[in-house]
Amino acid sequence: MGFLLHCPNCGERDAYEFRFGGESRKRPTFSATEKEWADYVYMKKNVAGSEREWWYHRLGCKRWLIAIRDTRDNSVSKTFWLGEE
Ligand SMILES: [Zn+2]
Repeated sequence: MGFLLHCPNCGERDAYEFRFGGESRKRPTFSATEKEWADYVYMKKNVAGSEREWWYHRLGCKRWLIAIRDTRDNSVSKTFWLGEE
C-alpha cells in the first residue's frame, strides 16, 4: 500500500506489515432499533477524509491498534491502543 503506520509499540513501520481491520465503529446498544442494526451491519461510511480504523500489526507485536487515516492521501495522523484516545 506504500504508506507508513506508527505502531505505538514498534514505531514507524511500512503499512504492508499490518492487516487492515476495517472501520472502528461503536456497536449499537442493546436497545438499538432494527434500522440502527441494519445500518451497522450493511452500511459502509466510506468517508472521503479522516477515518478511524482498526489495524493489526501482523509482522510486529501482533496487537490491534486504531489509526486515524485520511482516505484521500493515506496519511495517518494518529495511532493508539483502544481506550487510549
Ligand atoms: Zn507493533
